[in-house]
Amino acid sequence: MSGLRDILTSRIAQTGPMSIADYMTTCLMHPEHGYYSTRDPFGAQGDFITAPEISQMFGELLGLCLAQSWLDQGAPKPFTLAELGPGRGTLMADILRATARVPGFHDAARIHLVEASPTLRQMQAETLKGHAPEWHDTVTALPDAPLFLVANEFFDALPIRQFIRDGDGWAERVIGLADGELAFGRTDALPLSELDDRLEDTKDGDLVETCTPAQTIMAHIGAMIGAHGGAALIIDYGDWRSLGDTFQALQAQKKVSPLDNPGNADLTAHVDFEALARSCAPAVHSRLTPQGVFLERLGITPRAQALAAKLSGDALETHIAAHRRLTHPDEMGLLFKVIGITPDASTTPPGLEP
Ligand code: SAH
Repeated sequence: MSGLRDILTSRIAQTGPMSIADYMTTCLMHPEHGYYSTRDPFGAQGDFITAPEISQMFGELLGLCLAQSWLDQGAPKPFTLAELGPGRGTLMADILRATARVPGFHDAARIHLVEASPTLRQMQAETLKGHAPEWHDTVTALPDAPLFLVANEFFDALPIRQFIRDGDGWAERVIGLADGELAFGRTDALPLSELDDRLEDTKDGDLVETCTPAQTIMAHIGAMIGAHGGAALIIDYGDWRSLGDTFQALQAQKKVSPLDNPGNADLTAHVDFEALARSCAPAVHSRLTPQGVFLERLGITPRAQALAAKLSGDALETHIAAHRRLTHPDEMGLLFKVIGITPDASTTPPGLEP
């Protein structure tokens, strides 16, 4: 029995159906029962495994990409080296190891982590011992300085809302009760000016998703990079312009219904990169690039070969599988995408195109 199910059920009974966004926020971040607040969900034994947990090569290449971008922008000092949603801290640790020999980079870097979960903050502190990171609840707390930032599988955890086209209006998909159990429902249709542009590419019954927090966060990052310089690398699964229901729950690396086990399954939605790109002014965005293409351009194959030379047996097999998993179009290579945010088109980070 999930304590969170009772909390959600009685709240809906008192105040009516809740948006998917409210449901996601409560399930992921409830202080006592929230999915991220209470556990370490990553790794082979966890509910899901992310790119930095698959191989150190991912963080190394992102680190070198950021460092090159920092050099290209005149090696500003000091600068903010930030990560959003650092999980176990593995990605930042790999970035720091790979950049240790970039002259001046570590001296100039101030490490800032945006993380909501106290449990994960503790793990990050352990992983990043010796680097003195500072933690924040939101991006708005980042200092005014050149900003070099990574976010891997962060935006997919932000709360979305879903709307179903109905004539010239939109019905919101909500979570209510049916026979005392959590159940999807929908509101009456209303016109929604923020979805006016979607009247052009949808028909009755189509579902679109919005994620206002993602746009707000991106607007802040864009403003910082526009004002102080820097680069942001956003990596996530998703596409250019959302269409259809991508709200999903993962438990023990299997898809389950998002309503089945509130607080005990990871909830995500695909990232709408067009909405992010539209929010980054005055900074500019690169072309949306498949993760596999990006990592190949940064040299993952020679790096994989160099590491392979020191491995044999099971370790070698695992390493080869990891390379494939990160880059192959049938694995993460195509589903995951990268977008870069910089002050202007001349500063597009290595591996990406303006
Ligand atoms: N980047 C890591 C972890 C991805 S999971 C990796 O690639 O392995 C999502 C991360 O974002 C977790 O650390 C989670 O606690 C954090 N997170 C989710 N929503 C957040 C929010 N609104 N504010 C801050 N951190 C959040």
